[in-house]
Amino acid sequence: MDAARKPPDWRDTKVGLKVRAAAWLATAVGEGNTFSWKQLHDAFPQTTTIDRRLRDLRTEHGWDIKVFRGAPEGAEMQLAKIGDPVWDPAHTRRHRRSMSAAERMAILERDGFRCTSCGISAGEPHLDSGGPAQLEVSHVAPISEGGKASEENMVTLCNRCHAGTRALGNSAAQLETVSRYVCDLPARQQTILLAWMAKGERSPSPIERAWAMYRHLSPEQQKNVRQKLADEVERAADAETEV
Ligand SMILES: [Zn+2]
Repeated sequence: MDAARKPPDWRDTKVGLKVRAAAWLATAVGEGNTFSWKQLHDAFPQTTTIDRRLRDLRTEHGWDIKVFRGAPEGAEMQLAKIGDPVWDPAHTRRHRRSMSAAERMAILERDGFRCTSCGISAGEPHLDSGGPAQLEVSHVAPISEGGKASEENMVTLCNRCHAGTRALGNSAAQLETVSRYVCDLPARQQTILLAWMAKGERSPSPIERAWAMYRHLSPEQQKNVRQKLADEVERAADAETEV
């Protein structure tokens, strides 16, 4: 059998953070064992993106990490199953090939630079935490579980939706608030919302799509587009006064 390479020392800062996180899980925690959010953050004190790397292991590399008690800071987790050996260069090469930068951009464009689940665009504040949203392109069915590296199997999600985290409030009071809010919407908006609910994703309106695409341009390009639009608006106003 072709012995899989052993994970490197997770303390080795020359190695990428995802690999270090995987190595820490595999060697310091061990398959089947539990660990806390605090232990994870004690092991990687200088790194604010360690939660994201953990999520990458879960969603992209087939690492089965169960989370008990929802709140991130108090979470107890279990490494139920070790996934892909991300420390193995052979594996990394294989994985890289599965999504190129161009492919990623194509998916972002297709999805209008918005999370297909909640509709947020990059940099917008999350409603619950206020932290800025980051957009990620991921596989619907993970490659490690037989998912294809095709466009149909790729989707744009914000970091929140990607992690599968839900707002923590699930009290009866909150249910009532949301229900009331939904029922008070104008009928036309209710119809649209119902369609989103049925589809499980929010389809952006043309103006929202335009805004999200605009926001994705460089400052120079934004200036250019803004000027074009200003001219357009002015021309339309002129045409109106002439009538
Ligand atoms: Zn989202």
